[in-house]
Amino acid sequence: MKAVCWMGKEKMSVESVPDPKILNPRDAIIRVTSTCICGSDLHLYDGYIPTMKQGDILGHEFMGEVVELGSRINPEKLKVGDRVVVPFTIACGRCFFCQNQLWSCCDNTNPNAWVAEKMMGFSPSGLFGYTHMLGGYAGGQAQYARVPFADVGPLKIPAGIPDEKVVFLSDIFPTGYMGAVNCELRYTKRRHRLHLGLRPRGSVRNTKRLPARSGKSYRDRSSSRTLAYGQRCRRGDNRF
Ligand SMILES: [Zn+2]
Ligand SMILES: [Zn+2]
Repeated sequence: MKAVCWMGKEKMSVESVPDPKILNPRDAIIRVTSTCICGSDLHLYDGYIPTMKQGDILGHEFMGEVVELGSRINPEKLKVGDRVVVPFTIACGRCFFCQNQLWSCCDNTNPNAWVAEKMMGFSPSGLFGYTHMLGGYAGGQAQYARVPFADVGPLKIPAGIPDEKVVFLSDIFPTGYMGAVNCELRYTKRRHRLHLGLRPRGSVRNTKRLPARSGKSYRDRSSSRTLAYGQRCRRGDNRF
């Protein structure tokens, strides 16, 4: 199959790679129908986030059709032919964190948690296409992807809804939504909007809870600081 691969700092290319295979009984293979490039992928592109290896398949925002299932997937949960959006976090569904719906903290899906703990203090769950420190899983900027614990994360999409309307459920929309919930943003009659963070995350966070067309727009100062930081990173200066 063809896949977008990380070939070194600032080097990405479409390569021919082996098709993914079912490795564990709760895996699924997805034929990818839509996939996105996330702002977070820029950190891999410019080398800001380490532990990528040459040939790693990128992409953590994708959706598609189930073409193969492992032997322990309950057909009531997922069947061949189902259309699914795949969340970027890989969750086992059984650990303490998953039982409390803290999927991104899953304790069982990052085999390299110790590296992430060393780098960041704590380890999140394993993530698709996002470094060996976060599991080394092949991503979804490819024709096919292996999805571990496919009876937990993937979200079934009814026929008739186009990919473009739902693919953002893989990452950017819930990320923005969680930001809005955590900040207790509520709809008000005063048509003001506040952008926190860079687009599109700031915009998604905004549009979920506040009016789509607003009279005034505010941009917080941290956005321009973050932007300047990003520009410095691209020049090789990572100091905040
Ligand atoms: Zn993302
Ligand atoms: Zn878990």
